[in-house]
Amino acid sequence: MGQGLSLRVGGGKATREPETPHRLECDYLVVGAGASSLAFVDSLLTELPRAEVVLVDRHDAPGGHWNDAYDFVRLHQPSMFYGLASRKLEGSWLWNFLLCRAPWKHRANKSEILAHFASGVRHWVKSGRVRYYPRCEYDFSQPEAVHSEGGTLRRFRGCDGSTEYTALVRHKVVNGTEHEPLIPSRCPLPFPVDKGVEVITPNDLAASKKRRDAYVVLGCGKTGMDVVVYLQRKMRVDPKRIHLVVPSDVWIWNRFPPEIWRRGGPWDYVHRYLELDGDFDKTLLSLEAEGLFFRLDPERMPTVLRHPIIEQGELDLLKRTNHIRRGRVSSIVRAANGKDVLVKFGPNFLPLTFAENTAFVHCCSPGPFNGHLAAFTGGSVDVFDSPTSVSLYIIFTPPASLPSCAIAYLEAAARRGTLDLEFGRNLVEDADLEPWQVLQRLFHPWPAMNRGCKEQVAPILNLALFFAVADRDCLEVLRWFRGNKLSLFSTLYYRSNMWNALNAMAAKRDVLRLTAWEERVVRKLIVKLEPIKEF
Ligand SMILES: Cc1cc2nc3c(=O)[nH]c(=O)nc-3n(C[C@H](O)[C@H](O)[C@H](O)COP(=O)(O)OP(=O)(O)OC[C@H]3O[C@@H](n4cnc5c(N)ncnc54)[C@H](O)[C@@H]3O)c2cc1C
Repeated sequence: MGQGLSLRVGGGKATREPETPHRLECDYLVVGAGASSLAFVDSLLTELPRAEVVLVDRHDAPGGHWNDAYDFVRLHQPSMFYGLASRKLEGSWLWNFLLCRAPWKHRANKSEILAHFASGVRHWVKSGRVRYYPRCEYDFSQPEAVHSEGGTLRRFRGCDGSTEYTALVRHKVVNGTEHEPLIPSRCPLPFPVDKGVEVITPNDLAASKKRRDAYVVLGCGKTGMDVVVYLQRKMRVDPKRIHLVVPSDVWIWNRFPPEIWRRGGPWDYVHRYLELDGDFDKTLLSLEAEGLFFRLDPERMPTVLRHPIIEQGELDLLKRTNHIRRGRVSSIVRAANGKDVLVKFGPNFLPLTFAENTAFVHCCSPGPFNGHLAAFTGGSVDVFDSPTSVSLYIIFTPPASLPSCAIAYLEAAARRGTLDLEFGRNLVEDADLEPWQVLQRLFHPWPAMNRGCKEQVAPILNLALFFAVADRDCLEVLRWFRGNKLSLFSTLYYRSNMWNALNAMAAKRDVLRLTAWEERVVRKLIVKLEPIKEF
């Protein structure tokens, strides 16, 4: 099944009702085999070596949305900090050096990413600790059936409906689907298009040799940016023939800012935000002045921060194209002459006319900003949502993989009894809570789409909470981070300045509108984390 991964189905384990190919037993049933879930499983198996996992996914192969991505996609960020903590996505360092490539500049392509995830899953399946069910679907709306001897009974079925499986889950169901990106190859355009107008996806662009007179790139997120770069670098299209629809100007991270080794990575934003009293525009302008952020047009103030990452050379290519700033496209229709094509916008803008042999490249899907309210706006969702389930939300700023490792570490620490439960209960001011309830109260998803002051500092607060409760000794947590290749702490000189940020939060409690309880939490964290204040 799927990529030739052999499955261990049934056998080997004493169960209350004997396992059969369709009646399984496991500690964790993990739904989704994308980056979020696989980073979780990888860390869980390291922290709880005896844990048994059933892994269920709709796709044919591990890797989630990367299976459906365009062929020229690459990670936006260095490979070093993405994927599984237990193996190197950037390949052997020696090999990289021999090829005169800096390993930290390696950005994996689609096949490298898929091979990385497949080899991880293959290894776990071989070890007998994971049973992998590709082309299967889990229904999250199913009622929880508690088993009389402990655990819960869960069902999933083959996507073709032919087979149903029942799993007795001793500990938890893990939802690794909340950040599933919506991508052009899987989503129709969100507006009407006349018959015969050539709309292609980035996947079609890579697959086809056909050249067009002009290209209209519909959308200026990371996929749109990738397409513009591909058209110029690989297809040698003259930038004058490329039209980039920019519905709103966006802030763009510089992949390699000046003096990168002295930088705090994603935390630089939070520090500057606190320094500048929560002024969003001033924060980004000042980071832009230092070379951390780009924008397409220095005359226009971006309104959107969605974390695309590019480098100077790519920005130069983007700048050379024609930018269309008329808001979102509302439809694409044939002109009255039956040949030309009209691109229409909202009521305040005139349509634009393009000649017949123009390709419209669909880059309008929201990617990771998938509309799951829970995933990006926060609200009343929890990571540790019940005694029998956990959801893999991003709790720190991206890269996406490390937060899942951190959630696995918390889950394992709760099982092993190594959480600093006393401190956790002290933080939530309730001495009677179970470990999962303490984690539930403390860890909330990072609501990346919210512009509120607290939301902007949420990732660093979550990082501090993790350091404070994941173990009684915060130096032990630091050791864990340092040993995790997905963490910036694993690099020699990295400092997050988290402790200084906590002090700034306490000092700026009015700017952040901290409640009295939140302020107490911050002050307790400052005391507990003093031993790692240098980091
Ligand atoms: C083009 C692109 C480039 C990106 N580059 C980066 C980057 O460089 N760095 C970064 O940090 N992030 C990047 N991202 C963000 C990306 O969201 C994350 O990196 C990550 O891959 C998301 O993984 P995931 O596991 O959350 O989702 P997915 O990869 O979508 O995995 C979720 C899986 O769950 C399965 N599933 C969903 N529902 C069910 C169900 N009910 N039953 C069974 N299976 C189910 C799906 O089939 C899917 O395989 C990028 C995103 C895109 C679109």
